[in-house]
Amino acid sequence: MQVYEAPLRDMKFVLHELHNDDGFGNLEALAEFTPDLVDAVLEEAAKVAQEVLLPLNRSGDIEGCTLENGVVRTPKGFKEAYDMFREGGWCALASDPEWGGQGLPEALNKLTEEMICSSNLSFSLYPGLTHGATTAIEGYASDELKQAYLPKMVEGTWSGTMCLTEPHCGTDLGMLRTKAVPQGDDSFKISGAKIFISAGEHDLTENIIHLVLARLPDAPEGVKGISLFLVPKYLPKEDGTPGPSNGVSVAAIEHKMGLKASATCQLNFDDSIGWLVGTANKGMEAMFKMMNTERVSVGIQGLGVGEAAYQSAVWYAKERVQGRSLSGVKNPKGPADPIIVHPDVRRMLMTARAYNEGSRAVGAWVSRALDAEKHATDPAVKARAEDFIALMTPVVKALFTDCGYESANLAVQVYGGHGYIAESGVEQFVRDARIAMIYEGTNGIQALDLVGRKMPAHAGRYLRSFFHPVSDFIEANKADETFGKMIEGLEKAFGALQLSTGTIAQKGMKDPEEAGAAATDYLRLLGLVAMGYTFAKAALIAQAKLDEGTEDAAFYTAKIGTARFFFDRLLPQATAAFLAIKSGKASMMALDVEMF
Ligand SMILES: Cc1cc2nc3c(=O)[nH]c(=O)nc-3n(C[C@H](O)[C@H](O)[C@H](O)COP(=O)(O)OP(=O)(O)OC[C@H]3O[C@@H](n4cnc5c(N)ncnc54)[C@H](O)[C@@H]3O)c2cc1C
Repeated sequence: MQVYEAPLRDMKFVLHELHNDDGFGNLEALAEFTPDLVDAVLEEAAKVAQEVLLPLNRSGDIEGCTLENGVVRTPKGFKEAYDMFREGGWCALASDPEWGGQGLPEALNKLTEEMICSSNLSFSLYPGLTHGATTAIEGYASDELKQAYLPKMVEGTWSGTMCLTEPHCGTDLGMLRTKAVPQGDDSFKISGAKIFISAGEHDLTENIIHLVLARLPDAPEGVKGISLFLVPKYLPKEDGTPGPSNGVSVAAIEHKMGLKASATCQLNFDDSIGWLVGTANKGMEAMFKMMNTERVSVGIQGLGVGEAAYQSAVWYAKERVQGRSLSGVKNPKGPADPIIVHPDVRRMLMTARAYNEGSRAVGAWVSRALDAEKHATDPAVKARAEDFIALMTPVVKALFTDCGYESANLAVQVYGGHGYIAESGVEQFVRDARIAMIYEGTNGIQALDLVGRKMPAHAGRYLRSFFHPVSDFIEANKADETFGKMIEGLEKAFGALQLSTGTIAQKGMKDPEEAGAAATDYLRLLGLVAMGYTFAKAALIAQAKLDEGTEDAAFYTAKIGTARFFFDRLLPQATAAFLAIKSGKASMMALDVEMF
């Protein structure tokens, strides 16, 4: 059974308690968002997630989207839910008030995103992509385009897409063929075929605004010749309402493994009118603005599904009775004990729990940096936030989605055979979570971004935005009476990360394949250290609360328990990653292609 109750207590902990010393807080521009207001928003979002979106998750998966006579229909109930969502102002949460948004802190917005993804990942894509598209338009489009499109997109009556992928080009966008021909005024005619376009066509909004990558006639080859265009499904009339159709048609909807209620479309653009967003041939710059926002959000998708899978597994592990506890009967009135008594079931539940709490804590840290990047008045804080975001974006995307998928898989295992049967609802989590490791740049490409671009940037400056707080924390706390041993573990993993950084920098300079061979392990290692750091901090805070006396003892005790599990059972993966990195590319690349 799909069970989900928003983890509000942990959300409030990461928002209000965990990161107060990171230097990204106390932003005057966000002063109106008092803790009470923030908590009230979280509680309302939880209601929307639990009461409106969760009930449509499984039915949406079963029914899927349909294409009939060029019209795509979302599953039953989606349109009503979307209208309710839009009318409640949820589409406009994080957008700029200049365009009708509510300007909420990202630290809060990302937690509401998590709830939406937990309750209905497919649904989350419709408003999520629109938000990404508005970010690119805000950053790069002309004032005229902003005025014409942003208000409707921010309020959610029009939605947005990102159209990059073509049949022959996914990762390597330099090969894309969609054409843009200038019309002599400020418009262009766009022609070409795009595939895999999320929310490419649907029945939720009055208009759909596509952001399309295409090539101008005289464009240089490769990624340096790509431009970005805004192409509406319907051309707006003078009064701003949707007018004539703009030559965008749906060739098919993709039949896919999961995410069935999200319409993934093959789109044809046939002399469709579009306008340049940003500078000609510099489309990747504008698209990256959108993709970076989306990458953090896709990481949150992984966390969201991981949390729902975990909660569904906990529910089952308390209900299902099989076998007797190895430490003596726990349910004497029943024929067997609930499976939650068994160590191996605990291993699975604790792993998922630790990945979720670790991801949420690291995610909150990055979201606070997103707020500081936007609102800090001190240039040094702003610069540090920018460095930290640049470094952590690929980590959030890949680590959280890897962990989310692992948690979903563990949930199926907790259910045993019943987990493999569709009625249980948990196999959907595996199918849904799987895509987040692929889109927005596969996790392998995120790892290459980390070692190839982020690690060497400005002689390691981005890395320092992460290394400094971790090493300061270790120095300040390694003699702690209660958690000294835990912090020693963090010091060891951090040492492995520093050594690996040196190894990759050295070997990669001579042979880029060495960096490529180390990338995925390096991202995991950095991610584990980030989680370890936040867990150690959390444990210290929790202990202090327990020492001073609190009504919330159960929460803080559990936090320490989860932190201890992370250090005992998950952080040791850091040593394995370090050894794998140290071994280099030799065995990975040894076989000739013909030998495969
Ligand atoms: C459900 C769904 C929704 C999507 N939504 C959108 C959308 O809204 N808009 C959009 O434009 N696209 C969308 N996509 C496309 C998605 O972003 C791409 O599938 C993804 O970027 C990978 O591209 P590809 O499938 O062509 O794989 P390929 O690029 O062919 O990659 C195949 C494998 O090779 C690896 N690889 C490729 N190049 C390298 C390299 N240089 N170094 C190391 N490894 C490499 C990859 O990591 C991967 O493992 C969606 C896809 C799906 C399935």
